[in-house]
Amino acid sequence: MSRLADTVFRLASRSLRVSLRQIPLGFSRAVSSSTLPIFIFHAVEENPKPYIKHLYDYHTPESFERVLDEILRNFRPLEDLSPQGIARAGADQFLVTFDDGLRSSYEVAAPILERKGIPSIHFLITDFLAGSSASRVEEKFKASLLKEALSHRSLRDQADVASILAHAGYVGAPEDALMSVRLADGAVYAEVAERLEIDMDAYFRADRPYITHDEAADLARRGFMLGAHSRDHPRYWEIGLDEQVEQTLRSMQHVQTAFGLPHRYFAFPYKNKGITSAFYDRTHDAVDLFFTTSGWGNRMNRQKVFHRVGLDSTGSASQALQSGWRPFPLSLVQ
Ligand SMILES: [Zn+2]
Repeated sequence: MSRLADTVFRLASRSLRVSLRQIPLGFSRAVSSSTLPIFIFHAVEENPKPYIKHLYDYHTPESFERVLDEILRNFRPLEDLSPQGIARAGADQFLVTFDDGLRSSYEVAAPILERKGIPSIHFLITDFLAGSSASRVEEKFKASLLKEALSHRSLRDQADVASILAHAGYVGAPEDALMSVRLADGAVYAEVAERLEIDMDAYFRADRPYITHDEAADLARRGFMLGAHSRDHPRYWEIGLDEQVEQTLRSMQHVQTAFGLPHRYFAFPYKNKGITSAFYDRTHDAVDLFFTTSGWGNRMNRQKVFHRVGLDSTGSASQALQSGWRPFPLSLVQ
């Protein structure tokens, strides 16, 4: 076993030992050191899009390849992406996931993954899939786009934008204030865009941040797995139970119907904060596995919820694993 795989194995074993001390005997079957490291990426951009630049960390194609090579030196790609395959996978294997269905995940990342023989799951935000007149984009993309535009504008423009934002209750440097606008105050983006004479609708129609249905179908045809990532990417802890369930079931059904998927996988937008057992009661029959970027301490639905480690912001998988990876069984002791 390589050094990194060994570290993962030791982390898993440590949590296993802690777990076994604290949990009732009947649960011990669920605790295993063979826990699969699952990585999450969003964007792989040679030149970052202005609407992504201030929002996400991202890899360049070169840094993406480097981090994949590091992973490949230490782990084997998991080939069996069935629920059983994922649940049974060992700590010497790994799984790559991409969230949000951004265009670069299709145009840049997918060919690299194919060339290296790495299977992956791509979680799609169904209302954002491009190519239809109803397609929308993440509201925060507007903040990032406007922030980037503002950085090239005159002091006069910056003062005017600061004043628009202050009027809506967002004081301070305009570039910071823009990024802190709450979803409910989204109308302020339109005001700022008008002042800066930017047609955001036209911009996003032309640049198309997300993949289309056809491109998603192409991914599925080429052997990539698809999953759902909500209808429009809300923070689940800010919406009610009914809306959480609707977002989950509708997006899950959408990808199932559109792409005829063999398995039903759902990734929480952001994380699974705000999720209750009532949520799992109402979605249990419609989803095979859930994926989250945190919430490994959550006891609920531990057989079906998998933790993932973010790799957007680091060039070192080993560092990310050591600081961020918590094996699934740890949920039993939190
Ligand atoms: Zn997301």
